[in-house]
Amino acid sequence: MAPADDRVLIAGAGPVGLVLALCLAGRGHRVLVVEKLVGLLDQVRRAGTIHAATLEMLDDIGLYERLEPRGIVAPLVHYWDRGDAEPIAVFDHGVLAGDARFPHALQCDRLKVVEEALKTASGSDLIEIRTGTELVGFRQDHDSVVAVAETAAGEREELRGTHLVGCEGAHSVVRKQLGIEFEGFAFPDRTMTLSVLFDFDSIQPYGYRNYILDPVEWANLFKWTDLWRVVLPADVNADEDALLDDDVIEAGLQRFHPTGQRYEVVSKSLYTVHQRVAETFRAGRVLLAGDAAHVNSPIGAMGMNSGIHDAVNLASKLSPVLRREAGDAVLDRYVRQRRHVAVAHVQAITIRNKKLMAEADPEVRRRNRDELRRAADDPVLAREFLLRASLISSVREAAGID
Ligand SMILES: Cc1cc2nc3c(=O)[nH]c(=O)nc-3n(C[C@H](O)[C@H](O)[C@H](O)COP(=O)(O)OP(=O)(O)OC[C@H]3O[C@@H](n4cnc5c(N)ncnc54)[C@H](O)[C@@H]3O)c2cc1C
Repeated sequence: MAPADDRVLIAGAGPVGLVLALCLAGRGHRVLVVEKLVGLLDQVRRAGTIHAATLEMLDDIGLYERLEPRGIVAPLVHYWDRGDAEPIAVFDHGVLAGDARFPHALQCDRLKVVEEALKTASGSDLIEIRTGTELVGFRQDHDSVVAVAETAAGEREELRGTHLVGCEGAHSVVRKQLGIEFEGFAFPDRTMTLSVLFDFDSIQPYGYRNYILDPVEWANLFKWTDLWRVVLPADVNADEDALLDDDVIEAGLQRFHPTGQRYEVVSKSLYTVHQRVAETFRAGRVLLAGDAAHVNSPIGAMGMNSGIHDAVNLASKLSPVLRREAGDAVLDRYVRQRRHVAVAHVQAITIRNKKLMAEADPEVRRRNRDELRRAADDPVLAREFLLRASLISSVREAAGID
C-alpha cells in the first residue's frame, strides 16, 4: 500500500472528477484520479450544453478559452409547438449582460470538456490520472481513506489519501458502499437520444437550442457543430431492440421532419430517466459529487452543469481543510449548499421542463404558451427566467446557505 499521503482520491474522470482535480491542483493540492475506462474519449456523447454560470467556473480554471472555439456560442433559446413554423417564444441571454461574464450558453459536448480537462491536467505535476483502474471499494479511519482499485488485468491495489470523492457517475460504488439512499423516482417512459448529421435549420429557422412541445411526441433539438442532437420520447411498452432498429429510428425522424431522404444517424441511445438525489453527499472523509450524488432528466441541461458546480464548491471547502485552516465540519456546508441546489433547483426545473414539454391538457398548454410569450417579451421576466435556467440563481442562493 502507498504510504499515508496528503493527496485527495477522486473516483471517475468524467467532467466532474476532472474539474474537481483541476480546482484542487489550482489551490496547490495533490490529487489521484482513478478511472475505469482506458479510452476516455471513446464514449457516447451525452451532455452538450454548458450554461452561463458554468462557463465562468470553467474560465477560472483556464478551460473556457479552450472550449469556446470547439463549441457554438448560443445566446438564444427557442420554444416551439411541434408542427408550427413560428416559435412560441425566443429567450435572449443578452438580458444577463449585467449578471454573467459570458451571457450565452455554449453548445459543447461532454467529451470535449473531458478532452480539454485531460490536456490541462497533463500539464500539472499535482494531478495523477490512472485510467483502466476501477474503484471497487474503500475503508476510512480517523486520518485517511484507503481506496481499493482494480486494473483491467484484475490486479488489486490499495491507494491512500486524505479524502475520497465519488465522481463515478450514477452507479457510484462509493454511494452504494456507504449505503446512502438515492431518493427519487424514474419516469415511466424512456428517452431516445440521437446524434444526426443534418442541417435542421435548412428546413425551418431553428435556433441552436430548441424545446419542442407536444403531448405525445415532444422533442429537443440542439445544434452541436456539424451534428444535431435530437431527443425524442420512446414507447415504454416496446422492446428495446425494436426501438433501436435503424428503420424505426428513421421513421421517427421522418415523422419529426419529413425530408424525403434518409437521415444520417451517427449515434443513438435509449435510456430511462431517473430523478434522484442522494440523502447526503458526505460520510466522514468520503464525499459524493455530480451524477454520483444526483441525476435528472436531460431536458434543461442541468446534469453536467450542476455536477461541475458541485466540484467547484467542494474544492473551495476541501482546500482549507487540507491546509488545516478549517475543520471537516466545513464539508457539511458543501452538502447543505449543493444538496439544496440539487433538490430546489435541478430537480424542480427538470421535472417542470418535462411536464411542460409533454403537457396534454389543452387549457394548461394554452396557459403555458402565454406565460412563455409574456416572459420572453418582458426583459425583467426574461432575466428571471434565464437566471434560473442558466443556474446563476442556484449558485447565488447556495452561497447564502451556512
Ligand atoms: C445517455 C445520456 C444522455 C445524457 N444527455 C445529457 C444532456 O443532453 N444534457 C445534460 O446536461 N446531461 C446529460 N446527461 C447527463 C450527463 O452526461 C451527466 O450529468 C454528466 O456526465 C455527469 O458527470 P459526472 O462526471 O458526474 O459523471 P460521468 O460523466 O458519468 O462520469 C463518470 C466517470 O466515472 C467513471 N467510472 C464509473 N465507475 C467507476 C469506478 N468504479 N471507478 C473508476 N471510474 C469509474 C466512468 O467511466 C466515467 O468516466 C446524459 C446522460 C446520459 C446517460
